[in-house]
Amino acid sequence: MLQQTKADTVKEYYLRFLDAFPDIFALASAPEDAVLKAWEGLGYYSRARNLQKAAKLITETMDGHFPRKAEELKRLPGIGDYTAGAVASIAFEEPVPAVDGNVIRVLSRCWGIRENVSETAAQKKIHDLAAKLVPADRPGDYANAMMELGAMVCLPKHPHCDDCPVQPLCNAHALGDAEQLPIKKKQVRPQEEHLMVLLLVWQNRIVLEKRNSGLLKNLYGFPCLESETLPENPFSLASVHFRYCGHARHIFSHRIWEMDIHEFHLMTPSLPDGFFFCDYATLSSFPIPTAFRMARKYAEEILSRDLLLSSDAVSPLSL
Ligand code: SF4
Repeated sequence: MLQQTKADTVKEYYLRFLDAFPDIFALASAPEDAVLKAWEGLGYYSRARNLQKAAKLITETMDGHFPRKAEELKRLPGIGDYTAGAVASIAFEEPVPAVDGNVIRVLSRCWGIRENVSETAAQKKIHDLAAKLVPADRPGDYANAMMELGAMVCLPKHPHCDDCPVQPLCNAHALGDAEQLPIKKKQVRPQEEHLMVLLLVWQNRIVLEKRNSGLLKNLYGFPCLESETLPENPFSLASVHFRYCGHARHIFSHRIWEMDIHEFHLMTPSLPDGFFFCDYATLSSFPIPTAFRMARKYAEEILSRDLLLSSDAVSPLSL
């Protein structure tokens, strides 16, 4: 959970997740939808899927014993060098490095590494250096100290050099270019995509789909079209356009979705494969990613409005 996400955000999710899946066997045997539901809102859903795949692998091939060495941990889905190093050193006191962005910053500044750290050669140099520096005694405390130094003192902008315990050793501080390090390649601008998000309504129900490709694959969402123009009968469904609900924007790591949300009323309840109806009571049981937060809010408004109308015996189609 802590990959790409701050501890403050993770804390509540972590406790809820442990309540839902108290041990590795519970996680391994849970339906994938239940795991994704518990993850809802944290983003980067591949982490949740990998976590469950790892739990299955551990229960099926390792008798449920969690690996304790970094090299073994790296064989689990979703665990790379950094996570393996952090878990092995902090949880099991193995003297291996845990090199994340904070540690790269501290090392490149202290040792004056003025090379592009996005390139493999500089990464290897930093990794080799990090490995040499890990003490045999208390490697977990050392890993935590390096991470904290990067997160609290050696900040990307305005590092607190006056309060820094390693200032006398620091090359970048001596040369006065700490803020220019580490050197990174310019980031590629995220690509924009325009989507029409369709709230397709039939009586008191709304259409959801389980996404079968692309971003957010296997998660639930509202049907989308990659278009900026309003279709007459989206997905060839007999329907009438009812209203434009609003705009929403969601930023992924490499992509931005610009979404226009529209409400359509269906004339018949027949749907293409992969689409299905849900009502107000069941909508909240599906793991719907944060990208659809605004669309979901409109969907809830529509369903609660239609509930009210139906209790007055008025069809929503007669609006
Ligand atoms: S002296 Fe400054 S630049 Fe060097 S490690 Fe400490 S905070 Fe970072």
